[in-house]
Amino acid sequence: MTVLAFAEQRNGKMPKAAYEALSQGRRIADSMEDNLYVCLVGNNVSGLAEEIAACGGDEILMCDSEVFSSYQTETYAAVLTAAIRELEPGIVLMGYTSMGKDIAPRVAERIGAGLISDCTDMEVKGNEIYFIRPMYAGKVFTRVRVRTPVKICTLRPNNFRVDKKQGKGELRKFTAEVPEVRAKVTKIKVQESKRPELTEAEIIVSGGRGLGKAEGFRIVEEVADTLGAAVGASRAAVDAGWRPQQHQVGQTGKVVTPNLYVACGISGAVQHLAGMGSSRCIVAINKDPDANIMKMADISIEGDLYKILPELENQIREFKGRET
Ligand SMILES: Cc1cc2nc3c(=O)[nH]c(=O)nc-3n(C[C@H](O)[C@H](O)[C@H](O)COP(=O)(O)OP(=O)(O)OC[C@H]3O[C@@H](n4cnc5c(N)ncnc54)[C@H](O)[C@@H]3O)c2cc1C
Repeated sequence: MTVLAFAEQRNGKMPKAAYEALSQGRRIADSMEDNLYVCLVGNNVSGLAEEIAACGGDEILMCDSEVFSSYQTETYAAVLTAAIRELEPGIVLMGYTSMGKDIAPRVAERIGAGLISDCTDMEVKGNEIYFIRPMYAGKVFTRVRVRTPVKICTLRPNNFRVDKKQGKGELRKFTAEVPEVRAKVTKIKVQESKRPELTEAEIIVSGGRGLGKAEGFRIVEEVADTLGAAVGASRAAVDAGWRPQQHQVGQTGKVVTPNLYVACGISGAVQHLAGMGSSRCIVAINKDPDANIMKMADISIEGDLYKILPELENQIREFKGRET
């Protein structure tokens, strides 16, 4: 079975989810004793070939042109569709990122491929692949087998290991007919932040309605910065205007899988759990011992977060000081 990974990039930089797709692709290709093919689309992106090869890429189909300087659904989908038609892979992998969520269903429809979105795990048995993915806002996980010849799978970020394994890294120029672009990107507003991106973060400290006010996030930020973490929020905090929407974790926000998730003043509604329930370690700080999050957390700290968070920050600083 031929394996194709889509090397998502923006401005010549691949997100962690792209490396995860490459590494998972390499592992499947190894078990099938086949090459890992990679589709790379962008403008002046040949410099990424080395990094792709270091993650196991054997043959890189690169579509490099000014037309692809900014992401456009129609053009990128056209290239990926053409690459799939040429290679006829059994499986196509990409991240469950905003680009992956946008492009994968369109390409799947064009190819007539089965789509497995938000995959959290895979079992490869001979020539058969079983996909594990959540349903009903993460209440159950299903094991799916897809019968179409091409299967397109988007991988939940932070769920698949990144391995360094050298591939052949053969760069092949690839061209595809692309439609005339109907929408033009005139401006990109980048939100600058020193903190890690929410979906890629190893540690997230999140705040909810229990903070009581927008300024309450200051202490959440301080703890997050001490830990080198990203800051997240519940929808209640976002709806109150205390935090921008892109910080929302949950069913209608971002899905995250950090090693550590610290929920401060968050009750643990099912829609919030849908976004962070698969975190490896959950710490809940809440004054209500019966709050849902306190029951499902690995560590529950009962009390007022305004007393606990400053103490926690001091302890972390002290611990870090002892380490250096
Ligand atoms: C279709 C739909 C989609 C949704 N999508 C999302 C989503 O993506 N993400 C999301 O988060 N929600 C989502 N929601 C909303 C969700 O149902 C909850 O309303 C929301 O998650 C509640 O946020 P919260 O936990 O911050 O607030 P609350 O439920 O009000 O909880 C506040 C918590 O803070 C505690 N607290 C109060 N003061 C303190 C203190 N001083 N110290 C310690 N603890 C304190 C309280 O005990 C309580 O447990 C969605 C709802 C719907 C209907």
